[in-house]
Amino acid sequence: KPTFDQILLTPRFGRLPGHFYSRIQPTPLPSPYLIAWNTELASEMGLASEAEQHPLLANYLCGNRLPQGSEPIASVYSGHQFGVNAGQLGDGRAILIAEYLAPNGQHWEMQLKGAGPTPYSRRADGRAVLRSSIREYLCSEAMHGLGIATTRALGMAGSAQGVWRESLETAAVVLRTAPSFVRFGHFEHYRHDVDSLRTLADWVIEYHYPDCAAASNPYVALLANVVERTALMIAQWQAVGFCHGVMNSDNMSILGLTLDYGPFGFMDGFDAGHICNHSDDSGRYAYQQQPEIGLWNLHVLAQALLPLMDKASALHALQQYQGQFENHFADLLRQKLGLLHWQESDWHLITTLFELMHASRCDWTYFWRNLPQLGAELRDHFQDRGAFDIWFTNYQIRLGSEIHDPTERQVAMNRVNPKYILRNHLAEIAIRKARDEGDFKEIKALQQCLMHPFDEQPHFDHYAALPPEWAAQIGVSCSS
Ligand code: AMP
Ligand code: MG
Ligand code: MG
Repeated sequence: KPTFDQILLTPRFGRLPGHFYSRIQPTPLPSPYLIAWNTELASEMGLASEAEQHPLLANYLCGNRLPQGSEPIASVYSGHQFGVNAGQLGDGRAILIAEYLAPNGQHWEMQLKGAGPTPYSRRADGRAVLRSSIREYLCSEAMHGLGIATTRALGMAGSAQGVWRESLETAAVVLRTAPSFVRFGHFEHYRHDVDSLRTLADWVIEYHYPDCAAASNPYVALLANVVERTALMIAQWQAVGFCHGVMNSDNMSILGLTLDYGPFGFMDGFDAGHICNHSDDSGRYAYQQQPEIGLWNLHVLAQALLPLMDKASALHALQQYQGQFENHFADLLRQKLGLLHWQESDWHLITTLFELMHASRCDWTYFWRNLPQLGAELRDHFQDRGAFDIWFTNYQIRLGSEIHDPTERQVAMNRVNPKYILRNHLAEIAIRKARDEGDFKEIKALQQCLMHPFDEQPHFDHYAALPPEWAAQIGVSCSS
């Protein structure tokens, strides 16, 4: 199994014409140390183990050393940020250091996030701080464990190098991987340059949506596929109570991957208007806005692609979103409730439940996971216990309308209602241990646990507990 020095480089993005990116070397970090290595992903990718990569691993993870023949790249893209066209952006602190063909045939792009400035850094420093890197590392893998499409995190290194945010912090770099990091924003960047737009769309189709090539208009087929994947991804976010925090069009993956972990958060108590990003004053990216923002971003993408298709086809593709989202979301809720078949009238059951949960800020994850075991006892989590009792009776009647063995039902519900999620306070504890004590065991333990969020893991039961009171005080912003 290859170490970083031995991996076979098979450029794909790097074969696009030169104006799609800039060649840029990572800026070395002094005395890097290893924070985390994702053993499971490394083995999935057919890479050498931590022991085999030692002692240079931290140097590779932060870009001090590069794989043989690496020609690092920062790509240029544009984007709409908080509803406003922000013009040119680009990889301001992410550098593509390798494109790697794994023995199982999967092709991976490897990016270092926080490896120093690029031509797209504008006035920023190209770095990422320890706390945000830990959050990205853990959440990428937590989302993967939940079965939600996402970029992955292979490892993380830190350095004593100071990085200035609201106060002085230290630098860290995450090596993140994905089949492609192309964003909606890449297409926006070429919306007035048809040749480049077509080149990029053809590239995406060739490597990532080969089935579209046979369609009468492959670009319409591409848009339709992106619509569908985005609808599914956001339905899954809603089902686990995940708030992305910065759903700008430059943070939307063309592959429907959850991308760019910044001020994200899993909801503890259910609040339909929950805003996880403290910089999001208007609540544009609040929990209940996410499905609509997904569509808004798809409109931006379609607008960019218009030179390659007629308007009616683009609109038709976009019009599928709402129905697809609702179908996926209803299907997930059906499974969460333990029902075999969804009925239109189940929306009423759901709406009533959401209203009760919202009014009581009932813990989203705890409620669903414990619904089959605790049942009526969950009433103590609601302010209006009488209203919950009525809801629960209706729910029992609805369950009774289907023939389903209760034990089987509980097993099925536990497969969709996670016991363990990356609660903010859990990430915070791991961050504090790493920052204050140089202790990375908590990161490892959390990651191990979150890989299997649906399984009972008694030794990790402290991770399933309701959040402590101080959890409500944790603030996350765009500063990372
Ligand atoms: P984000 O809000 O994380 O999606 O970032 C928006 C844009 O700012 C992207 O082009 C990022 O690459 C860039 N950016 C964010 N933080 C930094 C940083 N510390 N240094 C350089 N560029 C950054
Ligand atoms: Mg971004
Ligand atoms: Mg970001």
